[in-house]
Amino acid sequence: MHHFNYRNGELFCEDVPVKAVVEASGTPCYLYSHATLTRHFQEFSNAFQGMDRLVCYSAKANTNLAILRLFEKMGGGLDIVSGGELYRGLAAGFSAECIVYSGVGKMVDEIDFALEEGILMFNVESIEELKLLNERAKTLGKTAPVALRVNPDVDPKTHPYISTGLNKNKFGIDTEGAMEGYRLAQTLSNIRVRGIDCHIGSQITESTPFKDALKSLVGLVRKLKDMGILLEHIDVGGGLGIIYDDESPPLPVEYARAIVGALKGTSLKLILEPGRVIVGNAGTLITRVLYRKKGKAKEFVIVDAAMNDLIRPSLYHAYHAVWPVVRTRRKKIRADVVGPICESGDFLAEDREMTDAKKGELLAVMSAGAYGFSMASNYCSRPRVAEVMVKGDRFHIVRARETYEDLIRGESIPAFIGAQ
Ligand SMILES: *Cc1c(COP(=O)(O)O)cnc(C)c1O
Repeated sequence: MHHFNYRNGELFCEDVPVKAVVEASGTPCYLYSHATLTRHFQEFSNAFQGMDRLVCYSAKANTNLAILRLFEKMGGGLDIVSGGELYRGLAAGFSAECIVYSGVGKMVDEIDFALEEGILMFNVESIEELKLLNERAKTLGKTAPVALRVNPDVDPKTHPYISTGLNKNKFGIDTEGAMEGYRLAQTLSNIRVRGIDCHIGSQITESTPFKDALKSLVGLVRKLKDMGILLEHIDVGGGLGIIYDDESPPLPVEYARAIVGALKGTSLKLILEPGRVIVGNAGTLITRVLYRKKGKAKEFVIVDAAMNDLIRPSLYHAYHAVWPVVRTRRKKIRADVVGPICESGDFLAEDREMTDAKKGELLAVMSAGAYGFSMASNYCSRPRVAEVMVKGDRFHIVRARETYEDLIRGESIPAFIGAQ
């Protein structure tokens, strides 16, 4: 599942002791395993062997350039949700024709950027966006390749913040609206209809929601065909879940079986947008215990990583296993693992039964490769942490720890307040 293992009681990432990385980079730091990243990408892609497919890694799960570059070299495409991600994708070497662009609020400058670069497909999420795309394409003398993102109204049975395919969600266009959208698209001079798309949510641990969503999409594809609207691509989104605790998500091959089964009888080129399932278990957040404290009601392990570094526990009450970097035979304790930030919501683990960890010792917050660093902020003026990639017995700092100077870059004090 991943390449973080103990050797003689000490945690290694592949052939590198975590301690060696910490000596070079300090704490906190994100640590990624090249072998795990590679294996997960391959396993996912191979599950669809025989299908005409493009695996567009979903950049927002982890946007580090080294990770993007790795998947580009493995033949992947890219799923982006902003102009910034397009910029990163191009900087990492992706060709624009392998990039699909989703998002409910694409802005004019982002649309123009993507049109100029010539991306594979805009996954359009509203009729107004479709009209704007047509206008911008006309202005720039381009044709905009589009898929409509359909909201199939299925319950992905995941956390409400990461459910995206229900009628009450802001994403996509409902099935009736999509039919109208395709009809309209046919009449717009600078729009070329290429496909159909959906993405119903994230951390989905059953196959049924995917099957139900696709059934709805395939129904639409048939209706469109009857109307003489032929599509080339079907983009089934991402969302496959991973094991954080005791979940049992479908394996990539099981997921692929569900997808391929639902697509029987169509001859569309398949686009997939996996994020979490590729990078989630390939990363850990390494943190050091600063203090221990026993309150009247609770025991606290205070560490140097915080909600600004990894917000998932605070935001979704997400579970991340916490492992000691050096195993001991000490008794178990029940504690909250908390960071230095001035919010009670700042925790990495709550009421966790864990091995007793003392001041100065290192902990690994597991399964932090997805939506970890990419959601990090500078809250409380905490510089964002270093990111390190290990391959075999080598490692490389793929993003330097931010400095205090980085924190105030771009800020300036106006004359009407007065110079220092
Ligand atoms: C976030 C996102 C994904 C990736 O989701 P995962 O759960 O990480 O696989 C794919 N497609 C779109 C449109 C997204 O917004």
